[in-house]
Amino acid sequence: NKLGLNEIRKRFLNFFESKDHLVRPSYSLVPQDDASLLLINAGMAPLKNYFMGKEKPPKNRMATCQKCIRTGDIENVGVTSRHATFFEMLGNFSFGDYFKRESIHWGWEFITEHLEIPKEKLWVSIYENDDEAFEIWNKEIGVEAEKIVRLGKDDNFWEIGTGPCGPCSEIYFDRGEKYGCKSEDCKPGCDCDRYVEFWNHVFTQFDKDEQGNYNPLPNPNIDTGMGLERIACLMQGVDTIFDIDTIKHILQGVIQIANIKYNEDNKKDISIRVITDHIRAVTFLVSDGVLPSNEGRGYVLRRLLRRAARHGKLLGVKGAFLYQLADRVIDVSKEAYPELVQKSDYIKKVIKIEEDKFQETIDQGMDILKQYIDELKDNNEKILSGEKAFKLYDTFGFPIDLTKEILIEEGLDIDKDEFEKEMEKQRNRARVARQNEGAQGWKEDAFSKLNISEKVEFIGYEDLKAKSNV
Ligand code: ATP
Ligand code: MG
Ligand code: MG
Ligand code: MG
Repeated sequence: NKLGLNEIRKRFLNFFESKDHLVRPSYSLVPQDDASLLLINAGMAPLKNYFMGKEKPPKNRMATCQKCIRTGDIENVGVTSRHATFFEMLGNFSFGDYFKRESIHWGWEFITEHLEIPKEKLWVSIYENDDEAFEIWNKEIGVEAEKIVRLGKDDNFWEIGTGPCGPCSEIYFDRGEKYGCKSEDCKPGCDCDRYVEFWNHVFTQFDKDEQGNYNPLPNPNIDTGMGLERIACLMQGVDTIFDIDTIKHILQGVIQIANIKYNEDNKKDISIRVITDHIRAVTFLVSDGVLPSNEGRGYVLRRLLRRAARHGKLLGVKGAFLYQLADRVIDVSKEAYPELVQKSDYIKKVIKIEEDKFQETIDQGMDILKQYIDELKDNNEKILSGEKAFKLYDTFGFPIDLTKEILIEEGLDIDKDEFEKEMEKQRNRARVARQNEGAQGWKEDAFSKLNISEKVEFIGYEDLKAKSNV
């Protein structure tokens, strides 16, 4: 049963429409009216006001497929089989309407009847003392007690500070022993690739007050999230999310441009997957109106783009190439995101300009680093000061891993502790900048700031350069 990613998305939304949910297209990656969040990282994030009761939802049952960015997962990308910085999250939501029982029953119905996942492959986790969830899974659905794992607060309780919170229940797919770590107690929650978490159901049933009391909410909510790429990976029986129909097409573009083979050298494979992932994130960020800059969202975009360019260099690619790959992202994503086609020229232009700028940065940084290296050698020293390394990184945008690599080739190294201290200072500065940015609000579509219409007419390179503020 090799369902394509686009088909799975459609089936999910149709299913919840048939359960009387209002289906909405994905919200922008840029949060609207929410200073607490840099980029949307879950299906529930744009709906927060409905959950908090600050705004009345258009309907008390909704379903979406939401674009998400999680830069916190960046180190995992290309390394684990299941993490991306950009991914789509399928979700059904209840605002004080249905609760645990319906959420679990419909979730099970969708995956076992509509996606036809064999029941014996499925496991679930619940919050350690959520006996109500246990009863529903065990007595009503018929999942064996041995396949219901109780997990602690870190894994299966959702809360942020005070306010609405509650236990979670996750659904896992057992990919079989060959993916396992072979440890005695390997089960859902284990870090290996055997049991893949793909759907999280959050039961928002408490309101946590300032004193730390969990007060039952009169109208509890439901918030679920299922990674579309993950469920596609499981449905298509492939090893990683990079092997599913849509993402594979992008990955093949990377291989073609780099003119290398996949599955021959693990280090190169990671670079290939990193580029594949980051170009997806970059394409969608630019489409949602983000431009490269040195702070906030713009910095996330710049970092992802430059990291991808850097991995291109590792693969021996000469010159700008990422902008060409955007075409492949658009091709496989346009069914759900037709605006990508309209914005295609604009997206590629923004990427190309930033790639070219990065090339200049590399050339300039190499000159400075060369000077530093000569100085070290003249003075018979082996360690580059963290301050200098940070200056290269922060002022000249030269990637720190590149600095490290070149130094090591010369038998030298960096003062890591000092560098980390400088980084910490920078993080604090960024935090303050972010708060200030949030305070200005993002009510309007970020695109309107660019003075271009939704159709995206041509804007000159000079104009773009000026606005991307470097
Ligand atoms: P994991 O433990 O695998 O990192 P999570 O518990 O952090 O996942 P949730 O916050 O519960 O993830 O998000 C709901 C669902 O979104 C997950 O069950 C998964 O299917 C998907 N998901 C989460 N993070 C990623 C990611 N980085 N890339 C792709 N899909 C993801
Ligand atoms: Mg995670
Ligand atoms: Mg998890
Ligand atoms: Mg989870």
